[in-house]
Amino acid sequence: MPKGDVLVHAGDFCSHGNYEEVKRFGDWLRTLDYHHILFIAGNHDKTFEFDLEKSLKLIPEETITGGKIHYLQDGYIVLQGVKFYGSPWQPRFYNWAFNLTRGGSALRKKWKRIPNDTDVLITHCPPHGILDKTDFKNENIGCKMLFDRVTDIKPRLHVFGHCHAGYGMNYHLLAGTDFINAAIVNDWHYITNLPVEYEEDFDGNELRRNEPGPEGTPESTEGAGKKGDGFIGEGI
Ligand SMILES: [Zn+2]
Repeated sequence: MPKGDVLVHAGDFCSHGNYEEVKRFGDWLRTLDYHHILFIAGNHDKTFEFDLEKSLKLIPEETITGGKIHYLQDGYIVLQGVKFYGSPWQPRFYNWAFNLTRGGSALRKKWKRIPNDTDVLITHCPPHGILDKTDFKNENIGCKMLFDRVTDIKPRLHVFGHCHAGYGMNYHLLAGTDFINAAIVNDWHYITNLPVEYEEDFDGNELRRNEPGPEGTPESTEGAGKKGDGFIGEGI
């Protein structure tokens, strides 16, 4: 793993979505040396939808209570003035977890919860049309409503995964927002891609806004890193 201050995992740390895999993921997180680790669930991480409490118990407790590992589900955390917001939902994709009807009001409501002043948005699902094309059918599997919300908010960075073939970076595609599809496996689930490294100085960022977000789970932690922290994104 590359060095960095913050590790972001954009979901799908499980393959089948059982507790044993969650425990293995937690054991792996424990070995990593970052000031903060942020992760969200993906559609493969089924136990996080069906029994979140039990699932989180398998992530090393001392690092959660010590403020190092943060699970985000429709909530945010502010680290050194940078607001990270995470959400696991996506338009229905086979019979996995965190499925909501494509184009439906339930999914729209989830995206509405993203605070307007989000700096780093982490979703499992890509926005429609951006790094979201599959190899199999050559179709865009991203969410149009998420695209609309992102273009409204214009976060500094949007990290996602889910679409394996879309791995890559797209800087300033929309004015002010960088996009990273951090999927490290290909469509056949072999690890083919490196974790994405991203470095950004958020100080004096002209995109910072002061108005509070509509909803979310407020949580604040003093980061241990220096000012102008680097940032690393990874997801499957
Ligand atoms: Zn996925």
